[in-house]
Amino acid sequence: MAGRHSKRAGAHVGIPGQRSMRPLGVIDARTHVEHLVSEQSAAAHRHAGCYVAHCGAMVLAASLTEPGRARCPECVR
Ligand SMILES: [Zn+2]
Repeated sequence: MAGRHSKRAGAHVGIPGQRSMRPLGVIDARTHVEHLVSEQSAAAHRHAGCYVAHCGAMVLAASLTEPGRARCPECVR
């Protein structure tokens, strides 16, 4: 019996805790600037149709088909 202990490759282990902190890009209907909104904030404000972005701005969610002109520099930092 070969007592060979092959090491387990740990290269493809899933990264824990990543899916809950993923920010969403929300385009402001008034300025067409894309802000980043945390998933928690999005869930909390979804019924109102507006979100609080990372930079603190209130974002009035535009139609998802509408392309954003620019990204908020405060949010993408
Ligand atoms: Zn922003």
